[in-house]
Amino acid sequence: MSTKRDYYEVLGVSKNATADEIKSQYRKLALKFHPDRNKSPDASEYFKEVSEAYAILSDPEKRKVYDNYGHAGVDGRYSTEDIFRGSKVNFEDIFGTGFDSIFESLFGRGGGFRFGGFDFGGYGRERGADLVYDTAISLEEVLKGKKEEIELPRMVDCDACKGSGCSPGTSMRTCTVCNGQGQVRTTRSSGFSTFVTVQPCNTCKGQGRIIERPCSKCKGNGKQKSMRNFSFDIPPGVESGEYRIQGEGEAIPNGINGDLIVRIKVKPHDKFKRDGPDLFYDADISMMDAALGKSLMVPTLEGTEKIDVEAGSQPNTIIKLKGKGLPRATSKGRGDQYVRLVVKIPTKLDKHQKKLLEELRDSFNK
Ligand SMILES: [Zn+2]
Ligand SMILES: [Zn+2]
Repeated sequence: MSTKRDYYEVLGVSKNATADEIKSQYRKLALKFHPDRNKSPDASEYFKEVSEAYAILSDPEKRKVYDNYGHAGVDGRYSTEDIFRGSKVNFEDIFGTGFDSIFESLFGRGGGFRFGGFDFGGYGRERGADLVYDTAISLEEVLKGKKEEIELPRMVDCDACKGSGCSPGTSMRTCTVCNGQGQVRTTRSSGFSTFVTVQPCNTCKGQGRIIERPCSKCKGNGKQKSMRNFSFDIPPGVESGEYRIQGEGEAIPNGINGDLIVRIKVKPHDKFKRDGPDLFYDADISMMDAALGKSLMVPTLEGTEKIDVEAGSQPNTIIKLKGKGLPRATSKGRGDQYVRLVVKIPTKLDKHQKKLLEELRDSFNK
C-alpha cells in the first residue's frame, strides 16, 4: 500500500481538535463523498479514507494510539475490522438509523470484508480469546487516576525456524498450482461476454509458496508466544466495572488479537462512601459541641479541611465541601464532599458531669 496520509490532515482538523469538531468535519465530508451520492471515480476511495480517519480519531483509545505511535501503532494493534466495528457506535451517531446501509457499504454483506468495493484483509480471520485482567483500586487512585503496567502474551517469530515456519534446513517451494502467484484466474465465456474471476489459490492459501516440512516447534505458522509489557491509564473518576481495550487480548498466529477486558473494582474506603463523583463522610460530634458550635477538622481524600459547626446544629446536618469529591468521569470538574454531623450523646457520666447536666435540664424546665 502507498504511504498513508495523516488522519488529521485527511479530515482537515488540527491535532488538538475536539471530539465535536472531528465529528462535524467527518459528517460534512461523508455527505460529500458518500458513494451513493457522489459518482466521481475517486469518491469512494476518498470516502473510505475519511471514514477510516474518523473511526480512529473518534475513538479516544485509538486516537491515543495514533497520536503516540502513528499509523504503525494503529496497524500493529488493530485489524481493519477492529477499527470499524469497534467504532460502530461513533458512526451510528453520525448516520443514525441509516447506519446499517452505510455499514454494509463499508463492509459488504456477509463474509467478505469490503469497504466501498475495496477488499481489506482481516475479516473472517481467526480471532484470539479475550483476556480478563482484574484490578482493585483505592478512592485515592480514583482521584488521581492510575497507570497500570501488566504483562500480556504476544506472538513473536518462532526462534526454531526464525519465523519461516519451515523445519530447520528445509525451505519453502513455489506453489505449482498458481505458479507462486497466490491467485488463480479462471475465464468463462457466456454468449458474447467473457468473465474473468480471480480467486486466492486454495493449495497455498494465497501465499504462493508451500512449506514442505513444517517446523515442529510452531507447526509451520512461524510464530510463538512470548510476553510483553503493556501499560494503560485508568482515568480519574473511574467507577467499578468492565472496560474493553481492543486488540490487546490473546494473540494467535496469523489471526486477529482478542480484546483485553479490564475489570476494575473500586475498593471500599474506611472513611468515605462514594456516590458517583460525590463523597460522604460521617463526623462524630458531642451534643455539647452541637449545642455550642465548634470548629472541626475533617479528613478529605487529599488531607484535612476545617468546617464550622454552628451553635445549635441538629443531628444529621449536612455540610457541603464544594469540589472536594472525585473527578467526574464524563465531564469536567469534581464532585463535592458531604459531611454529616453525627451527634453523640454521652453514655458514661461521672458525678460532676451528671450534676451539671441535671442543672442544665432544670434550667430548661423552669
Ligand atoms: Zn518454527
Ligand atoms: Zn498456490
